[in-house]
Amino acid sequence: MRMVQKFGGTSLADPAALRRAAELTAQAWTEGHRVAVVVSAQGDTTDELIEKAMLLTTKPAPRELDMLLCAGEQMSAALFAMELTRRGIPAVSLTGAQAGIHTTSRYGSAEILDISPQRVCALLEQGTVPVVAGFQGADAQGDLTTLGRGGSDTTAVALAAALKADLCRIYTDVDGVYDRDPRRFPDAHRFASIGYDEMLALAERGAQVLHPRCVQLAREHHIPLEVRSTFTDTPGTRVDTNKF
Ligand code: ADP
Ligand code: ASP
Ligand code: MG
Repeated sequence: MRMVQKFGGTSLADPAALRRAAELTAQAWTEGHRVAVVVSAQGDTTDELIEKAMLLTTKPAPRELDMLLCAGEQMSAALFAMELTRRGIPAVSLTGAQAGIHTTSRYGSAEILDISPQRVCALLEQGTVPVVAGFQGADAQGDLTTLGRGGSDTTAVALAAALKADLCRIYTDVDGVYDRDPRRFPDAHRFASIGYDEMLALAERGAQVLHPRCVQLAREHHIPLEVRSTFTDTPGTRVDTNKF
């Protein structure tokens, strides 16, 4: 099957985590799936980049801030592709722009207008894993933009829709979607599956695990999501039309 795997910041925070994440991609690829990967910036990189800007000015030009923040995801993409290649799996890293992600010019909270998936499709067809920098795109002028905090989830689902993927797996640092934040409420209940509408309501109430825009896109394009932990083998939570 054709799938998109997305790895969040904690899943890539250090070499051991990144190796574990790449192993999950390698497994899916070896099983014969066509896999496209979307990566976030490592650990606290995005916050650190914002701090760097703030040391210079409390009002950075939005265009320049986006240019800076895009670097975080680009680092992850290159490192992830290097790790896959080291394992003998052909992989190519791509910026959002190289992956054909066209956005509005609203720096800091740009919206994806459309995706020209030809390059990513061609890589998939030849058995290569495209590793796409999440959270970013380019506007009509070619200037780099970012999609808002947590936006790599949205990149993953938008790409899955453009590729007509069968599944989008969101790998993160918890083993699924809970009724409340499991880090704050140890007695929170994990859903084996949840409908788009219910998931959207949770995301809009601030459940960080999925960005609201990504849930809307998944619902619109009928892309099933799976929220899983990078670090454990539990099956996670399935998000789709049916709750069962
Ligand atoms: P990533 O870097 O992988 O995108 P995030 O930090 O954005 O990860 O999202 C995962 C975090 O979301 C978890 O560590 C958890 O604390 C938090 N979270 C908040 N509400 C929920 C919820 N209802 N179910 C699962 N996780 C939640
Ligand atoms: N790196 C970005 C952020 O920290 C995007 C993401 O992780 O989804 O918000
Ligand atoms: Mg996130």
